[in-house]
Parts: sequence; C-alpha cells; structure tokens
Amino acid sequence: MSKPVVTRFAPSPTGFLHIGGGRTALFNWLYAKHTGGTMLLRIEDTDRERSTDAAIGAIIDGLEWLGLDWEGQTVFQFARAPRHREVVEELLAAGKAYRCYCTPQELEQMREKARAEGRAPRYDGTWRDRDPSEAPPGVKPAIRIKAPLDGETVIHDKVQGDVVIPNKDLDDMVLLRSDGNPTYMLSVVVDDHDMGVTNIIRGDDHLTNAARQMIIYEAMGWEVPIMAHIPLIHGPDGAKLSKRHGALGVDAYRAMGYLPEAMRNYLVRLGWAHGDDEIMSTEQMIEWFDIADVGRSASRFDFAKLENLNGHY
Ligand code: GLU
Repeated sequence: MSKPVVTRFAPSPTGFLHIGGGRTALFNWLYAKHTGGTMLLRIEDTDRERSTDAAIGAIIDGLEWLGLDWEGQTVFQFARAPRHREVVEELLAAGKAYRCYCTPQELEQMREKARAEGRAPRYDGTWRDRDPSEAPPGVKPAIRIKAPLDGETVIHDKVQGDVVIPNKDLDDMVLLRSDGNPTYMLSVVVDDHDMGVTNIIRGDDHLTNAARQMIIYEAMGWEVPIMAHIPLIHGPDGAKLSKRHGALGVDAYRAMGYLPEAMRNYLVRLGWAHGDDEIMSTEQMIEWFDIADVGRSASRFDFAKLENLNGHY
C-alpha cells in the first residue's frame, strides 16, 4: 500500500497572498483532499529582512478566506535552523560536504571569468579536495555539497514530464553560509523530509531548484517526494502576471466583494479543467482534481471571467 499523501504550501512571507500563491495552495489542498491525504503549512521566513508578521497574517487570512485548511501546527522555517545545521554536520562527517574558504574576492573572480567566457557562473571546486589546514587565517568557511561532476539529474515531474538537467550545470552549492545561516535550498529539503511531505506542488520557477534539491536528498539517502511544477500565471497580454496587471492580492478581491467560492472556482481553472465544466462545487473539484491533468502551458488571468463567475454565486 502506498503512503498517504502529504502536501504542503510553503509561502515566503514577504507580501500578501497573491493569485499565484492562492492557486498553488488550492492545488495542494485539492490534491490532498482528493487522495484522502493532508496538507501542511510552512512559512519560509528565512529571509529576515523581507519577512514580516503582517505578511504572515495576510497569508493566513487569505488561506482562511479561500476556505483552505491545513493539518496541525504551522511550521516556521527560521526556527528550524539548528536542525538544518545538524544535517550539514552529518553531511560533513560523511564526506559529502566540505568547507570552502574562498574569499568574496575569489568568488567574484570566478564569476568574472565565467562572464568573460560567456558561460553561467559556476563554483570551480577549489576547496573540494584541498586540505583545510591550508585555509587562510581569519576566513570563516561556507559549507558546500559535493555535487555529482558528470551525468545528469532527472526530475520525474507529474506536470512537466521527465526534465533532464546535466550535472555540469549544478555546481557545489552552498548549504551553510559563512555566517552560519542555512541556505534556502538546504532548509526546504530538510523541512520537506522531516514533515513527511510526499508530494511537492509549486510553481515551475522552482524547477532548477528541484534538481539541486535532489542532490541533497541523494546525499542524505532520503526519498525524493513526487514533484509537480505548475506553469506560472500570465496576464491577459501573455506576460508574467505582475503589478501592472492590476490587483494581484487575494485580499484585494475580497475587499472588492468577490466571494471565496467564485475565487476558488476561478483559480482551480487556471491550468486545470474538467471538460467544459465552468462552475464547480468544492465537492466536485475535490472529486475531479488530479495534478497529472494540469497543463504544461502558462494560463492567462482573465478579470472578466472572474467577474462572470462571481455572478453565479
Ligand atoms: N517559499 C517559496 C516561494 O514562496 C516556495 C518554496 C517551495 O514551494 O518549495 O516561492
């Protein structure tokens, strides 16, 4: 028997709950409900400068207004930093990570060289095999993972199909910065593993991150969750949805008097359809929704359609 599905919504609290985030949360919630599983909520507040309590409140309000509930306590990523560091220690002890003593100047030189040669910047592995006793005095090391040097990483994605990334494009990424702070890439993997997440559903802007994250799963010997990267939402003009397209926050629609049922019905159809059914009850959405039916092309946000749907509720 396969494990019960555990999905998660993992917003960074740097602003309100936007349309794209609302749809990601809805897809995670529907997939969990459809399979009899659960959805968890993790607030990714590791960017201390940009994360605010107001944004956390706005995201939670937005989810509640949309009628999307989650199981158990909300997990706050920043508070888990000691656990993230513990995993780095394990990787160091296993020889799967190493201390990198490069100075900011040396790293900048590497980037400049790559720019001059017209290729993407890549860490050159200087400290991979170098003896730490050669470390320059006073330089605090960052910890990097030993990424595979050749071959490829394949993401078996439920929406995108098999995505192949050559390992030469994935360098030895930093897990722990020289100030002792874990990187986003490490935190996401450790948290998803510890929370027992079986299915990751998120925007396809995270696709290359997924390949990097798989290297960490591999190094830890952890099972990689099933991934589904959903295409981003575009505005009516075909460009990525942004401020210039008007109201982006779920709360703005709430303030304008839109009904959560209409919003849910509208959001579910951004990238997923069930035949020609336009109006769907929540029960029908739960019954019919399958992440594997989400299309690969970007969907367009159409204000008139939302307006129209609102009239039905
Ligand atoms: N915190 C990330 C974001 O808001 C999402 C990370 C993830 O889903 O893995 O874009």
